[in-house]
Amino acid sequence: MWGAWGCDKGALTPFLCFSNPSGLLPAPGAVRCPRRRGQVQRQQPPPASKARSLTRILPPSRPRPRRSFPCLGACAHIGGGAPAPRGRARSCRRHRFPSPLALLPFPPLRPLPRRQPARQPARPHCLPAGPWRSGWVSPPPPDSPGRSPQAVAGARWMWLAAAAPSLARRLLFLGPPPPPLLLLLLSRSSRRRRRLHSLGLAAMPEKRPFERLPADVSPINYSLCLKPDLLDFTFEGKLEASAQVRQATNQIVMNCADIDIITASYVPEGDEEIHATGFNYQNEDEKVTLSFPSTLQPGTGTLKIDFVGELNDKMKGFYRSKYTTPSGEVRYAAVTQFEATDARRAFPCWDEPAIKATFDISLVVPKDRVALSNMNVIDRKPYPDDENVVEVKFARTPVMSTYLVAFVVGEYDFVETRSKDGVCVRVYTPVGKAEQGKFALEVAAKTLPFYKDYFNVPYPLPKIDLIAIADFAAGAMENWGLVTYRETALLIDPKNSCSSSRQWVALVVGHELAHQWFGNLVTMEWWTHLWLNEGFASWIEYLCVDHCFPEYDIWTQFVSADYTRAQELDALDNSHPIEVSVGHPSEVDEIFDAISYSKGASVIRMLHDYIGDKDFKKGMNMYLTKFQQKNAATEDLWESLENASGKPIAAVMNTWTKQMGFPLIYVEAEQVEDDRLLRLSQKKFCASGPYVGEDCPQWMVPITISTSEDSSHAKMKILMDKPEMNIVLKDVKPDQWVKLNLGTVGFYRTQYSSAMLESLLPGIRDLSLPPVDRLGLQNDLFSLARAGIISTVEVLKVMEAFVNEPNYTVWSDLSCNLGILSTLLSHTDFYEEIQEFVKDVFSPIGERLGWDPKPGEGHLDALLRGLVLGKLGKAGHKATLEEARRRFKDHVEGKQILSADLRSPVYLTVLKHGDGTTLDIMLKLHKQADMQEEKNRIERVLGATLSPELIQKVLTFALSEEVRPQDTVSVIGGVAGGSKHGRKAAWKFIKDNWEELYNRYQGGFLISRLIKLSVEGFAVDKMAGEVKAFFESHPAPSAERTIQQCCENILLNAAWLKRDAESIHQYLLQRKASPPTA
Ligand SMILES: [Zn+2]
Repeated sequence: MWGAWGCDKGALTPFLCFSNPSGLLPAPGAVRCPRRRGQVQRQQPPPASKARSLTRILPPSRPRPRRSFPCLGACAHIGGGAPAPRGRARSCRRHRFPSPLALLPFPPLRPLPRRQPARQPARPHCLPAGPWRSGWVSPPPPDSPGRSPQAVAGARWMWLAAAAPSLARRLLFLGPPPPPLLLLLLSRSSRRRRRLHSLGLAAMPEKRPFERLPADVSPINYSLCLKPDLLDFTFEGKLEASAQVRQATNQIVMNCADIDIITASYVPEGDEEIHATGFNYQNEDEKVTLSFPSTLQPGTGTLKIDFVGELNDKMKGFYRSKYTTPSGEVRYAAVTQFEATDARRAFPCWDEPAIKATFDISLVVPKDRVALSNMNVIDRKPYPDDENVVEVKFARTPVMSTYLVAFVVGEYDFVETRSKDGVCVRVYTPVGKAEQGKFALEVAAKTLPFYKDYFNVPYPLPKIDLIAIADFAAGAMENWGLVTYRETALLIDPKNSCSSSRQWVALVVGHELAHQWFGNLVTMEWWTHLWLNEGFASWIEYLCVDHCFPEYDIWTQFVSADYTRAQELDALDNSHPIEVSVGHPSEVDEIFDAISYSKGASVIRMLHDYIGDKDFKKGMNMYLTKFQQKNAATEDLWESLENASGKPIAAVMNTWTKQMGFPLIYVEAEQVEDDRLLRLSQKKFCASGPYVGEDCPQWMVPITISTSEDSSHAKMKILMDKPEMNIVLKDVKPDQWVKLNLGTVGFYRTQYSSAMLESLLPGIRDLSLPPVDRLGLQNDLFSLARAGIISTVEVLKVMEAFVNEPNYTVWSDLSCNLGILSTLLSHTDFYEEIQEFVKDVFSPIGERLGWDPKPGEGHLDALLRGLVLGKLGKAGHKATLEEARRRFKDHVEGKQILSADLRSPVYLTVLKHGDGTTLDIMLKLHKQADMQEEKNRIERVLGATLSPELIQKVLTFALSEEVRPQDTVSVIGGVAGGSKHGRKAAWKFIKDNWEELYNRYQGGFLISRLIKLSVEGFAVDKMAGEVKAFFESHPAPSAERTIQQCCENILLNAAWLKRDAESIHQYLLQRKASPPTA
């Protein structure tokens, strides 16, 4: 999945991102995240009718219970669940289950009339009133003969409580329940507790000890039929799972969350059906235990379950996604996001990656909707009794994990091709936008054969669909054969998409398609090994894009996007090892972070370089062949690569994946006759300065060394496996430079002796050092300065040596670092001086590039122009500002539409130096934009506005209906990154609106992202205390590590400011007094 970072890529941009301050970068890795998951929730006020109905039932002081199951909006039932769309009532569970009521010892309730929607979509889009009427859902279990009336009543209560808890709870008011029922009902109130927690009224439950599912019963094949109701946001399901009972038992434990089971039974092969007599939901563990009156003997049989669930609005499980038809009508699609542990919200299942099975999926859907699943359609037939509904059957899947299952029901157009190895590839887009799927289609059709050749294993399914989903929390998700994407990660409008969007789409498509082998065919044994999936896909996406688009120079961009970003995070005391042992599924979210994705990708890149491509490919093929359709752990990959290469892979890699951090290699040199003697030593690199503790961790570091004789090939390669080493480089002349880490591949930082550094600097000016080495050198120096190992003034002097720099990525990294420095100095009274410095550094390249593309220019020139103009405009460069205003005016008046690549820099510049009218125009452009890319582009620059009232307006806008829930984070983050005042205002806004924000993103990675973007720029000690104190009283368990990292960064910023502010100021003043001559 493109998770936390995936969304980051999308969510975080340029100038909002401290490390990517231009705001113009494609920011490939910048935005990845743990992703993944859709805990985004848009809060809507309950319909008035519901509020009334609740007060009728509950005493006023009782908090409103919150249930997952939708229902009861218009009825007098207790309930909460999903709010009904505006103007429409939801169905009542009562209408659904008339027959069970008749069985109960209570008089049935009188059904309330259903409220008519104010603007009801045409009924043909809706499913028939309910399968319970046509007998689609099984009736409740029959009574066993000879049971006492109390036992029968108790069993019926249990059945009702399980099948329809809301209704059962309603009936509680009519008569006392048997004690076991009371316990059962109480056990189902975890959501309510969460709600209380969010209100600060209850303590968050502590992390519970976790147990994996028992192995006594396991699935062989799931036959699953689902019937979503796109108006009432519910679904009904029938599961018939053929299962193997390994050990005699009278209960089956499965995963199940937010689902109500109506009936369950087990049919042993060749024997009589046994009905389950109890469903015990363990809500905290997201499990259900089905109890049977007799023992299930070892052997095979069929487990039958009928159930109902909610099409929720939280972007996880089986959820609803809102879209607007070309005619402007709002409708909903039903889509899925199961990774990591949300398949259990769509159907009861063994929801662990190692419990694989095959799937026969059918969907019962309105006949005018597209229905998709992992496999191709094998049958489509009218549904009995309703001519508006069809049943679509899909072919059986290969053996696979539950988190990769997917289905989509909605309205889409598509474009189609066949890859050269015969796989049918389709890209599904919103209706009327098929054209925008062509770019991704081309990338996918090129990518599939590339991976097939690389892994030497064919793509195992007959088709692959890529589909753009309107409401989507992560960047994308690699469901086998049906990959889902955010719209901005898949759709490219030939006229209105910018170059960085193309590049992003190519990377995300490359990432998800790599998972079809690495992740889907061979799956991690448990979430502990998730990093391998994500790190590998995040590395090979670059290999694939480099193959498809060599002109992107994508490997250089990798260093700026993933490698340096991972190093920034991993240098903190609050980092974590790549391999983290994961227990309870709630811990999975935490590890979808830059360490899993970007550090994972960086160490795999280092490993690939250490082994060599030929042996790496051989090892990959061994691994994929040996474990296909099975599960594997990190050690299994190391073993295959070790066998292929004969190198000590496990020993080397364990030092990188099992301990956090990375080394700083200090190097000094001495000329001994014709040879150069190098003395190397390693120590852990810390963001706070040299490592001081005892027992400094050690790494086995593959090191490459190059010289000016041949700057693009290694003169020597060694494996540094001890704290200190001496190396002799033969035949190196005294005037030649020597550099470590050719290509910036090794995951370490380098500190050169002054003499060695001095000899390297001319290589920057005359470009004799390769671009990726210039970038690495500058980035190492910058982080050494941040850590207080060298002076920041030294780095500023090195930055000035980049005057002749032509490379986009080198500029982009330099721009990030200057952005970080600008943010820091915004706490001083000489912020304007650093802006002068920025203008001086960027002016020459800005003049060379100009505003309009020249003949023969390519992708990277377009990216560079956007970056440089944005940087100059933001810093207030007069000529750039004037031209940006002129072009913006023409754009708004329709005289001359801005090219997509120039929009971000122009929007940013005019907003930063504009007034309320400019902001209003931007908001109008936002409203008018048809493409999500354009909306996101505008959202990310809004925070550049400077006046306090306008900042407030932007913050209010962030939470409005105009902004999709997953994009709110980038608007608020943009404000925090835009100015000193914005930072304070954003923090206050988060505190004031904490409850709403927390509810939206409950526990998801977006809340971590929001916190990081909003508070990391502070540079005063006391702010670290304030942030810490706030989150102590407003806990956000899934963001705990992020909060610690932010507090650490605030303290580091404060220390940096105290240490270097004065010398930086003096240097800038001196420079002003005697400007450097070009
Ligand atoms: Zn992924």
